[in-house]
Amino acid sequence: MTVPQALPDEFALIARLFAPLARGFPGAYGLLDDAATVAVPAGEELVITKDLMVEGVHYLPDDPAGLIARKLIRVNVSDLAAKGAKPLAYLLGVALPKTVTLAWLDAFAAGLTEDQARYGMHLIGGDTAATDGPAVLSLTALGTLPAGTMLRRDGAKPGDRLYISGTIGDAALGLRALRGELAGMSAAAREHLIDRYRLPRPRPELGLRLRGLAHASLDVSDGLVADLDHICAVSRVGAEIEAARLPLSDAAQAALEVEPALLKSILTGGDDYEILFTTPAGRDTGVAAAAAAASVPVTQIGRIVEGRGIRVVGLDGKPLPIADGGYRHF
Ligand code: ADP
Ligand code: MG
Repeated sequence: MTVPQALPDEFALIARLFAPLARGFPGAYGLLDDAATVAVPAGEELVITKDLMVEGVHYLPDDPAGLIARKLIRVNVSDLAAKGAKPLAYLLGVALPKTVTLAWLDAFAAGLTEDQARYGMHLIGGDTAATDGPAVLSLTALGTLPAGTMLRRDGAKPGDRLYISGTIGDAALGLRALRGELAGMSAAAREHLIDRYRLPRPRPELGLRLRGLAHASLDVSDGLVADLDHICAVSRVGAEIEAARLPLSDAAQAALEVEPALLKSILTGGDDYEILFTTPAGRDTGVAAAAAAASVPVTQIGRIVEGRGIRVVGLDGKPLPIADGGYRHF
């Protein structure tokens, strides 16, 4: 049996794990001060968002630490993307079990290193504590955009076209695959779905190109129908989705062919982290140009209508009843 290496004290840990992630951001002061400063260019404003992950709720205790770190960054970048903001910096709050090992922490920091570089962010501060309970990992992300241009949820109008980026349903099917469901699929297809569940692909390059183009926008974390309902509720409109238009990966398509009832998972499952947005009619060219410039496929899946409620037209052209819209924590 190997004895876990004793952990350095808190300040040595911060110096070892986190200070390297602040390098290159002068206002982080090497994580040696009480606080950080963030300069915002004239005419821009900060967009700020937080998502936290709890061991046993958002990830399993034996999930790889690097993957957990990357998902923590990505779910936050996804919020910035949906708001049209360019990622800039983040703060990190971690409550860790006393049993955590140095190897776990190093892998966690390596995951942060990889993805903060991918999205052009730096770590500028945080807090670290020990806990007797499960680990709690909290990240606050900062992004920038021209003042007043943040994409909101409440701007959808009747007649708007409804679009989604990437593919939908992969993460929900990936979770099912991890639970041993979806027998009869190829190993490659299962792997694709599981990877999409474990590692979101946020779309910041697309999001910032939707500024001035989209009426309403959010990222799909709770499920397509539930998140569309969030737009509809605050915009005071209804919506219609055509199932036949949903962009499905080859793997999701294969799963659906074996088990048509999975359409409901695709419509209501969460964790896709794609951008769901609306534009006025007649903006197809602008949307296509934004998608091409961002190298992210975008598909029109329906439209915004007057009234309330979400109507889904099934693959057979008939209305498809959707009872529960998505994931709820409480
Ligand atoms: P304070 O006592 O002022 O709250 P701390 O001793 O908790 O400060 O932290 C010292 C420095 O290390 C601060 O700059 C803080 O932002 C940074 N820091 C602490 N924990 C983290 C962390 N998990 N991630 C990034 N920076 C951290
Ligand atoms: Mg202090």
